[in-house]
Amino acid sequence: MTPRILVVEDQEDNRRIIRDLLASAGYQMIEALDGESGVRLAETERPDLILMDIQLPGLDGYEATRRIKANPELCSIPIIVVTSYALSGDDVKAMQAGCDAYVAKPFSPRQLLAKIREFLAAGPVPAA
Ligand code: MN
Repeated sequence: MTPRILVVEDQEDNRRIIRDLLASAGYQMIEALDGESGVRLAETERPDLILMDIQLPGLDGYEATRRIKANPELCSIPIIVVTSYALSGDDVKAMQAGCDAYVAKPFSPRQLLAKIREFLAAGPVPAA
């Protein structure tokens, strides 16, 4: 089965970069443009992994991460937060929200792919 990755990202430029990256690696991408639809698509699509932006219209990436991780049926899906706020302590906030890993923008495509592969190879995250 082709791994399916849900990308929650409001910026088309960023989605295009990630879309190309995931396609080149043979992954299928599901796209959400805001936090609410990110949570909804996590429920309906049950992706193998989620890439989560933080700054999103409406529900931000922290709250979307909290809601997904609070759902016992979804909490095993690894969430990698991708954000540009590494210098302002948002990496700590992202981990507190329950994400499994953190990648700062601008990310190198190789680094992001390595992180994705690490989690997909490890299988679902055991429930805490
Ligand atoms: Mn954003």
